[in-house]
Amino acid sequence: MTTYVFDFAQGNKEQKDLLGGKGANLAEMTNLGLPVPPGFTITTEACRAYLAQGSQPEALAAEIDEHLARLEEAMGRRLGDAEDPLLVSVRSGAKHSMPGMMDTVLNIGLNDESVHGLAAQSDNPRFAMDSYRRLLSMFGSTVMGIHDDVFSAEHDELKRRKDTTADLDLDVDDLRELVSAYKKAIEEHAGRPFPQDPREQMELAVRAVFDSWNTERAVLYRRQEQIPEDDGTAVNIQAMVFGNRGMDSGSGVAFTRDPASGSQGVYGDYLQNAQGEDVVAGIRNTVSLADLGELDPKSHDELLGIMKKLEDHYRDMCDIEFTIEQGKLWMLQTRVGKRTPEAAFRIAVHMVDEGLIDLDEALGRVNGAQLAQLMFPRFDENAERTLLTTGMNASPGAAVGRAVFDWATAVEWAERGEDVILVRKETSPDDLHGMVVAKGILTSRGGKTSHAAVVARGMGRTCVCGAEALEVDVHAGRFTVRDGKTVHEGDVISIDGTTGEVFDGAVPVADSLVVQFFEGEQVDDPLVEAVARLMEHADAQRRMQVRSNVDKAEDAARARRFGAQGIGLCRTEHMFLGERRELVENLIVADDEQGQEKALSALLPMQRQDFTEILESMDGLPVTIRLIDPPLHEFLPDLTDLSVTIALADSRGHRKKRQRKLLDAVRRLHEQNPMLGLRGVRLGIVIPGLFTMQARAILEAAAFRKKEGGDPRPEIMIPLVASVRELEIVKRRIIDVAREVRDETGVDLAFKVGTMIELPRAAITADKIAAAAEFFSFGTNDLTQMTWGFSRDDVEASFFSTYLQQGVFPVSPFESLDTEGVGSLVRTAVRLGREARPDLHLGVCGEHGGDPASIHFFDEVGLDYVSCSPFRVPVARLEAGRSALGGG
Ligand code: PEP
Ligand code: MG
Repeated sequence: MTTYVFDFAQGNKEQKDLLGGKGANLAEMTNLGLPVPPGFTITTEACRAYLAQGSQPEALAAEIDEHLARLEEAMGRRLGDAEDPLLVSVRSGAKHSMPGMMDTVLNIGLNDESVHGLAAQSDNPRFAMDSYRRLLSMFGSTVMGIHDDVFSAEHDELKRRKDTTADLDLDVDDLRELVSAYKKAIEEHAGRPFPQDPREQMELAVRAVFDSWNTERAVLYRRQEQIPEDDGTAVNIQAMVFGNRGMDSGSGVAFTRDPASGSQGVYGDYLQNAQGEDVVAGIRNTVSLADLGELDPKSHDELLGIMKKLEDHYRDMCDIEFTIEQGKLWMLQTRVGKRTPEAAFRIAVHMVDEGLIDLDEALGRVNGAQLAQLMFPRFDENAERTLLTTGMNASPGAAVGRAVFDWATAVEWAERGEDVILVRKETSPDDLHGMVVAKGILTSRGGKTSHAAVVARGMGRTCVCGAEALEVDVHAGRFTVRDGKTVHEGDVISIDGTTGEVFDGAVPVADSLVVQFFEGEQVDDPLVEAVARLMEHADAQRRMQVRSNVDKAEDAARARRFGAQGIGLCRTEHMFLGERRELVENLIVADDEQGQEKALSALLPMQRQDFTEILESMDGLPVTIRLIDPPLHEFLPDLTDLSVTIALADSRGHRKKRQRKLLDAVRRLHEQNPMLGLRGVRLGIVIPGLFTMQARAILEAAAFRKKEGGDPRPEIMIPLVASVRELEIVKRRIIDVAREVRDETGVDLAFKVGTMIELPRAAITADKIAAAAEFFSFGTNDLTQMTWGFSRDDVEASFFSTYLQQGVFPVSPFESLDTEGVGSLVRTAVRLGREARPDLHLGVCGEHGGDPASIHFFDEVGLDYVSCSPFRVPVARLEAGRSALGGG
């Protein structure tokens, strides 16, 4: 029989699948002997069963009763007892943390009677009434589905009547009034009174937590973070401890290191006389842990001791939630803390130096996506700027955009292509849509642990929070800097999440320090040092090589500085644009072979020069040059434009012989589906002179470089091959050209001829193709297009959002390789190719070559290298290193 409920003492931190992150870590802390209020966890399995069948599994209620009885015994109190009630919290806790997305209800067990018992027991009627009104509003909104605003409006109205803005100014009579108002509101909005039976409260709260798995915001968050839809959440039921029992009580959140910068030393926020929710919501401004040291040195010291113990035990930065109840410290939660990319690199390296982890593990703790973020630009320090204010540096980066004050406007403006900065007093989970589309988030309240900060860091979005000098009026759509300027909706602002600064207007941005380091500059900076050490380790560990996709010498030079070990794809079609376009037109409109020859011989020296420069910049490293790929009509004028020009010329009696010939060619070459038409090797077969001219240019350039004392290593690559016969035809001509070049120059050249594998037919006949190819390079862009039947140019913009929404795939297959489908063709081609030719060299040059998840797949199937754009070369190096160590 399945067990659905476990006491905290029965679990451990490895059981996140079953107990969720919170439950597993509560169990771990319990077993470490830390002061954790007792309780139990309802498993994710129970949630999955509930969601699948629409009702709780039969055995669950009895199991809960049994564990509740045990908890009551341990605490010496009964749930909801009129004299001395046990109160519990009911909290969600999925395997992957989803901050603020899921439901929590505190103070379950209070009702009209037990609130008096609590008042008497605690000798604090105000505290009892405050706890009851919190239960009513939390239960009302999360369990009974009433909008938060209903409760906050009552609360604000009462404070207004009392002429105060501080919750703490409300006395017990005020709170009693609030309790009545809340109960009335619940009955009015939910059509039933607040349930007085404590066991029913608990039952409904558990259900609400299960249901909160499927709220719109939770679904959206999971899609963003790629968290599996079918994990489900666990539910933790725990004896309440109270941070709102007076000024000797309070709640806090803390990190064992700074989650924004990674600096050593604890970091946290504490709020006196408050429950946990108040801290995270940023409703009142908090004090630092150092201040807690002044307020309550005993709890402070104990807390620091526990934080050290946790960090040593988890061997990672932990974040914790704690409560102090009348001078007694309680631990409510811990987990390995979310951090910014900068902090991830710095903490990993610090921990190596502190002997907590080794370099392999450090490498596993950072990833390519984080590195990519560190390569984003930052604000140019030398540029002029007008500082509006400084808030807290909650999530680094430099964001420029128009100020918007609600999530719906953020979404609307972002959809029409505007960069926006979402400005709020504080954010709530409802703002998530806006946070996703915004370039940055700015709040006037809350610390680095506020909702805005935590979610922004999780998403890698720039965030400045707690900018207290800002008076934010979301209804009027503006904010005013104290004693200063007013910024209206639509005005451009710039926010620096690394320093916390907020600027008026658009501040220019400069290269990141990490990029400067990759460029070879001397940069003295702790982050750069951490990146350098982990890159070095990744390079030492990785099996796969990393090349770059470039077609200009200066990009090749940059790629090389960034660590590329050659060029995996030089797209030569880019070399026929601009002024050379006319020469291609000449080739296309030529009447006879002679005309074609003339056009080609005009192109030859230019191509030779292109290749000479590229081979020089990659001297000593392999350079894969792909012969021209796209359809020829891409080099011709637009059919309509040209027709109009000719019609105009006709009407004026001008003669336009060349234009007319061009128009004929444009008409002749027009295709309904150019991606499936005359391109790639097909072009090479139909207009052989083009491919042979290119092959000659490559080989002459190589011969020239060799004569100059260089070490050119050209690899000639044929695109869009479907059948080995196509490759054989073209290859024979290339070999002939090579012989001619050797005879003409007297230079004996080593070069390779290989092919792209980018059509399904090529993949499944790879054994045959391998007989004529010395290397394969997987063109996963076309292979994805051709396998799914998705037009690369159209589908992403037209219907992918619907596909993503409906879960056909979690991420676009053009972005991250569809390992199941397209990947299976890659696997097949690798196997067949190597069976036919064991020394076949294998790489990938589609966009996926720079995508972290895909890189791990290519490593697993045994490719020799990945090739990607220069800026992704460091990311690919890092991920190839992580993959070699088995890191996911
Ligand atoms: C590919 O198809 O994956 C590829 C690299 O070629 P292109 O993107 O130029 O078609
Ligand atoms: Mg292609």
